[in-house]
Amino acid sequence: MMASNDVDVIVVGGGAAGVAAAHRLRDASVRCLILEARSRLGGRAWTITDAAGFALDLGCGWLHSADRNPWARVARALGATIDKTPPPWMRPPLTNGFPRTDHAAYREALGRFYARLHEAAKHDPDVAAATLLEPGSRWNGLINAVSTYASGAELDRVSVKDLDRYDDSSINWRIFEGYGFVVSAYGAGLPVKFDCPVRGIDRSGKRLSVDTPQGAIAADQVIVTVPSAVLAVERIVFTPALPAKIAAAHVLPLGLDDKLFMSLDDAEEFDKDVRMFGRTDSAATAGYHFRPFGRPMIEAYFGGKLATDLEAGGTNAFFDFATAELVNHLGSNFARRLKPIGSHLWGRDPFSLGSYSYASPGFADCRQAFAEPVEDRLFFAGEACSTHDFSTAHGAWHTGVKAAEQVIVARGR
Ligand SMILES: Cc1cc2nc3c(=O)[nH]c(=O)nc-3n(C[C@H](O)[C@H](O)[C@H](O)COP(=O)(O)OP(=O)(O)OC[C@H]3O[C@@H](n4cnc5c(N)ncnc54)[C@H](O)[C@@H]3O)c2cc1C
Repeated sequence: MMASNDVDVIVVGGGAAGVAAAHRLRDASVRCLILEARSRLGGRAWTITDAAGFALDLGCGWLHSADRNPWARVARALGATIDKTPPPWMRPPLTNGFPRTDHAAYREALGRFYARLHEAAKHDPDVAAATLLEPGSRWNGLINAVSTYASGAELDRVSVKDLDRYDDSSINWRIFEGYGFVVSAYGAGLPVKFDCPVRGIDRSGKRLSVDTPQGAIAADQVIVTVPSAVLAVERIVFTPALPAKIAAAHVLPLGLDDKLFMSLDDAEEFDKDVRMFGRTDSAATAGYHFRPFGRPMIEAYFGGKLATDLEAGGTNAFFDFATAELVNHLGSNFARRLKPIGSHLWGRDPFSLGSYSYASPGFADCRQAFAEPVEDRLFFAGEACSTHDFSTAHGAWHTGVKAAEQVIVARGR
């Protein structure tokens, strides 16, 4: 049994990246310890169970690029059930307030936007994606709303080159028992200290010293996997300081996305797994996923400035907003059929401070700088370190494994 105040490698954070890194280290017989601020594993992968027994993913829910997503393999190995129903955004939406002809026109406008984005990404300078909207197009509001779901931010805040680098195989699956369940179950059995927020990492001595409320812990190497927003506000103090790392964290902010699950009475009136937009002429609107997995509920998705504004009012503000948008399409009696059953405010969560990263215009290349090791003993992982799979749980996995492999190489020197 190793002394827990002296290990080979410390992994700061037990989310998707941290758990993947610790597995890789353990497979290489490196003695590692995860220090996790929360009292659970998973981080932004978090499944709760509602009163009816349904697994609700408050963070990641979709196995994006599922055909090459390592979490799909883990889910299968854990005996979880993978659902391959095509996602609502790849199917025609409910027609309330959005006739089929309008939807076709919107899809064409969206396609033209992405074609312009792809072309612009080939050239310097790197600019804000909003510059590629068609002036005066009636679909700009909705294209911007979709940006708030994909990036957690409106297009004026998002780098063209970074957005274009995102790689998606267009295969999206879900896990019946929950994505968060799979990430945390995969971490079961790894050595973890919970409720242990790291406050500082001192590399002025021969070994690294990691400062925690439970005392200082010595290690040869440390892998830091906390969200970029947490590093940007210097919740972890590096000694000597790492100004370039903190600067990179600042230009890789976390966008904001929050979910609200609502139970829905007489849900069978609606098809399974279909989406409705609150409105089609504004970025400040939620997407409503009816009957996810066929369950009697609606999963509402709020992003960007709308989510930021609503977080100020707490969960009730999200429910009131959603009810008003739905009533607008479905009539005033619809409100009686809804009850809030689960949500989490990721922007107010001190260990996330947001949902997933995007790059500010002009700073697409900062992901590499953010991931760059320091002195061969301080390593970085987490979704913001990924050049092509950022913002996702599988991107986090790959960065965790990569950092662990960098550690293994460094230990062999
Ligand atoms: C609403 C929402 C929906 C999403 N939907 C999807 C989706 O459908 N598909 C998808 O692939 N991704 C999705 N994501 C993104 C995905 O959840 C994240 O990209 C991924 O989980 C990030 O993993 P990570 O290991 O990089 O970071 P995290 O999961 O944030 O892990 C970092 C860990 O560090 C801990 N920590 C923080 N500070 C400290 C400290 N000082 N000391 C010790 N520990 C600390 C945190 O508690 C956390 O456990 C979604 C996220 C949200 C919020």
